[in-house]
Amino acid sequence: MNNDLLKLIKIAEIDKKASAKEPEIAAIEEELELKVKELNSLEWDLEAIRSDIKKSKLEIANSELSIAENSDKIAQNEAKMSNAKSERELRILEAESGIAKEKITFSNQIIADLEAKIDSFKEKETEVQGKMDDLKTLIDETKKSVEARVAVIQNELKTIFYDKEVIAKQIDNKVIVFYEKIRKWAKDTSVVPVKRQACSGCFICINDRVYLELIKSEVIVTCPHCGRILYLEPNEIKSAESSKESALDSAKREKKTTKTPDSAKSAESKKATAKKSSAESKKSTAKSTAKSAGKSTSTKKSTAKKATKK
Ligand SMILES: [Zn+2]
Repeated sequence: MNNDLLKLIKIAEIDKKASAKEPEIAAIEEELELKVKELNSLEWDLEAIRSDIKKSKLEIANSELSIAENSDKIAQNEAKMSNAKSERELRILEAESGIAKEKITFSNQIIADLEAKIDSFKEKETEVQGKMDDLKTLIDETKKSVEARVAVIQNELKTIFYDKEVIAKQIDNKVIVFYEKIRKWAKDTSVVPVKRQACSGCFICINDRVYLELIKSEVIVTCPHCGRILYLEPNEIKSAESSKESALDSAKREKKTTKTPDSAKSAESKKATAKKSSAESKKSTAKSTAKSAGKSTSTKKSTAKKATKK
């Protein structure tokens, strides 16, 4: 397999391992978030209880004011009654005092009810406050444990990314940049195997040309449909190679049958001319050696002698 591709598959596996850690961290942090949410909701409850207490106290104050006013009224009427000039006036004052007394009784009843309510509110307040205190302690503990557990995972991630860096340095940087671009949208399925001649990212079949390129494995091949980087798994390579051989065989057979008789002839004639010309050139060199041998230059004589010796 292509060396860059082999390493890219390893890098993709490492990235997959790293992204599996993200939900782990999220789950741990969620534990804390849920407790913080619970605390917030308790704070709301506490605020509502305190506001109810305030409201009740205000209502008590109003009732007390009404009691005071009615008590004054009764006192005033008693003073008036001693100076009453007629029976009618006396009766009116008595009636007024009667109403004031009723109002006082009513107000006292309201105050008693409100005080009972306040007592129950205060009980609730103490209960919620206690829950909040417990929760705050729990949150502090959870925070520490979450931080520790997240730190462990982050250390694991550091090791994982170190491994990735080591491998990445062994590949052409362009390949890494190309992979990271695909990873932006394809995430953990950026480098996928081809199964039964289909991309396992988009599950669409790839054509024979791309498939052959993949078998040759000279360059990095991407899916023509989705753009993911493709590779063949070992068992897929075996079956692919046997099908490639049969494909090549059929391609050869096709070539033979498609050859026209003319072209075959011309090939034969080419062969014939090649033979002829080589024979002629051999002849001419033999002649020229013979001629030069006949010449009187010493060097050429020696060459001729050497030639005859041979
Ligand atoms: Zn695809």
